Amino acid sequence: MTADRGGYETLDGLMMLRRLQSVARNAPMAVVATLASLIALLIAFRNSDYLPFIASWALLAGALSLWGSMRLARMRQRITPAKLPLHLHAAAVFLGAGSIIWAAGLLGLALIARGTEVAMVAIIGTSLFVGVLLVHRALPAVAHVHIASMSLAIGAASWAAFGPAGWPVLLLIAAYAATLVLTVRRIDRGLIESVRQEVERGEVSQSVRLLLEDYEEQSSDWLWRVDAEGRLHNIGGRFAGASGRDASTLEGLPFTDLFESGEARDRLAASLAQRAPFTDLVVHLTIDGETRHWRLSGRAHQDGGMRGVARDITVDRQNETRAARMAHYDHLTGLANRYLFNERLRHATGADGGPPGSVALFYIDLDDFKSVNDTRGHLVGDRLLREVADRLQAQVRSDDLVARLGGDEFAVLMETRAGESLLIERGHRFLSVVRQPFEIDGQSYRISTSVGVARCVNGDCDAEELMRRADLALYAAKSKGRDNFALFEPQLDRAARARREMEIDLADALANGEFRLHYQPIIDLGSGRVTALEALLRWHHPRRGLVSPANFLPVAEKTGLIVPIGEWVIRQALHEMSTRGSDLRLAVNLSPTQVKDPGLVAVIAQALYASDISPAQVEFEITEHVVMEAGEQNLTTLEKLHELGVSIALDDFGTGYSSLSYLRRFPFDRIKIDRHFVENVVQDADSRAIVASVAQLAQALGMQTTAEGVERLDQLEALRSLGVEEAQGFFIGKPEPGERIDLSLIEQAGRRSAADESVLDYRQARAQALRRRSNGGNG
Ligand code: C2E
Ligand code: CA
Ligand code: CA
Repeated sequence: MTADRGGYETLDGLMMLRRLQSVARNAPMAVVATLASLIALLIAFRNSDYLPFIASWALLAGALSLWGSMRLARMRQRITPAKLPLHLHAAAVFLGAGSIIWAAGLLGLALIARGTEVAMVAIIGTSLFVGVLLVHRALPAVAHVHIASMSLAIGAASWAAFGPAGWPVLLLIAAYAATLVLTVRRIDRGLIESVRQEVERGEVSQSVRLLLEDYEEQSSDWLWRVDAEGRLHNIGGRFAGASGRDASTLEGLPFTDLFESGEARDRLAASLAQRAPFTDLVVHLTIDGETRHWRLSGRAHQDGGMRGVARDITVDRQNETRAARMAHYDHLTGLANRYLFNERLRHATGADGGPPGSVALFYIDLDDFKSVNDTRGHLVGDRLLREVADRLQAQVRSDDLVARLGGDEFAVLMETRAGESLLIERGHRFLSVVRQPFEIDGQSYRISTSVGVARCVNGDCDAEELMRRADLALYAAKSKGRDNFALFEPQLDRAARARREMEIDLADALANGEFRLHYQPIIDLGSGRVTALEALLRWHHPRRGLVSPANFLPVAEKTGLIVPIGEWVIRQALHEMSTRGSDLRLAVNLSPTQVKDPGLVAVIAQALYASDISPAQVEFEITEHVVMEAGEQNLTTLEKLHELGVSIALDDFGTGYSSLSYLRRFPFDRIKIDRHFVENVVQDADSRAIVASVAQLAQALGMQTTAEGVERLDQLEALRSLGVEEAQGFFIGKPEPGERIDLSLIEQAGRRSAADESVLDYRQARAQALRRRSNGGNG
């Protein structure tokens, strides 16, 4: 036990202490043996003439031994390192003196003993002789004195009684003495060894203590120890300081009292009560009104209590939560980021092992946001995104999750069993809040968004499936045009699969020569003559037959295949036109992706050169998306095309944004009025007004106008009367392979008017003409 070693850290000191303790411990037994021996001797010599002498000697010896043992017992209780050698010395002298007194007494008694008295002296002498093992064994020097004096006394008594004839007794005494000396030495060696081990153990535990103290000082951990009742003891200054209390007030305080009640404290209390080891238990406490978090570890100690370390992890925790925030939230908008969104989605759909719920997922994607960023700068873009985030957030309940998935993509996750009507209502609400103008630095901006929504009911789809469905819905919304909403429906799935198949087929279509060009004639409304042919792409799919460009062009756009396909169209159209040898204008369509392609100008220049067609004869048609999307870069491309000498037409005017500002941003040569206006131009006054004003504006700006989608004679006449210059449509001529186009036939239709009653139906006339032609060919 290290506890009662006091300050005896050295081997010598501890050796002395252990010797003294051993002597003191055995002293009472020695006193009992001494008194018993004295009484036995008095009884044996009760009839002796020397009784008074013997009695006084016995009284003296008994008193001395009582006094000595009492002193030893008292000494034992207040041994101090400084006085230890003195005490030990005193004990040795006392014991040595005791031995000599006994030896002398025994010798005297042996000389006067008669009859049975001799036997009694011999027995007592022998037992005292051996008693050395009991009392003196911890002090070898005194033991030797004892053995020597007793041997001498007994030897002398024997000599006096038997003379040389008593040699067997002398031999016996010598053998006894030798055995006792050896035994004392063996005992002493054992004592020395045990003390040495004790010192070693002490040194180890002392160095451990030093290390621990050092550790406590160096590290941010503090040591604590509690007793079997869970009360703090010997608490260090650092622990006390950290707990905001005095070390003295902590002494004896139940450890759990330091902490706030709750689950963590209950666990601590349970561990302390069961003396069960615990690690990294985080408990909370309030110090100066501030909540701190401590992490505790502890284990049982052999003293019956527990010991362990504590660490204040408040700052770590704060850093962790800050890092967790950064890891889970978008720093621009403060919304959840994709990571947190995924987590919540997985949770809501039961992908993390929880119960699957009913979830609705909205994907919200701003329309043409890139162009805002490009033309207004990133600062405005960021402000817009923040504002959009706030508006979306304001539309949902607190347990719905609004996330920014990146760029201009947002998502709203709702755990709801709501029916489709509510989802549609929500979707439209999202559209409408984004549609409201944004005020940034005194300027007003307008943007729009597309929203797709899908839902899982009672976990009938997993997170991945839900995201895929919402994505398809968003895709459907986008393809309806800007500012639109779509709900996932199973047919979107089929459409997606078809698109995927188409992607695969489209990749081979060009190499397999599956593309053809058809041409649709465009006439001059004044003269009725054909002025141009518009090249329109056709895909002859080996299994599906003729596929409409409306179906495959979006796929080609998305995959980028539009660039090589469009290149083929340009070369092929110019080539076919040059073999035709006519001076008709050739119109070729360009998609946004084509215009963005840096190789476009070179491709066109090369095609012009190869076909030997005058650039003035060629017109490229682009939609307003081209002007809007990549901004300046696209405008530069268009200018370069102008420099080549080709003209540029704005296609589908009236759909999409239809802002006249595009007409200011680029000097188009022509505006093609979308067929939606043409459709209603006869019966609808608004459509008529729009067509009329576009025609007048174009004239003022030096642009030509072409009306698309003319399907009836009355439309053609209305357009002519409103001042539109050219027209195109099924009434005039459908797109056909170049070799099938019969200009005279077309011009016949173009020249017709309501007054011309000779031919009532265009189709009839056409059929007649075809019949005439084939008859002529045969005859
Ligand atoms: P677009 O440039 O507006 O072409 C006119 C579309 O209207 C053609 O559809 C044509 O067949 C159709 N159309 C013409 N007259 C009438 C009419 O009287 N009534 C109705 N309902 N429709 C009429 P098509 O050939 O299916 O082409 C669709 C779109 O695909 C084109 O619209 C054009 O934007 C694009 N496209 C076609 N060929 C190419 C091409 O070679 N390259 C690129 N980039 N786009 C092309
Ligand atoms: Ca066109
Ligand atoms: Ca068009």
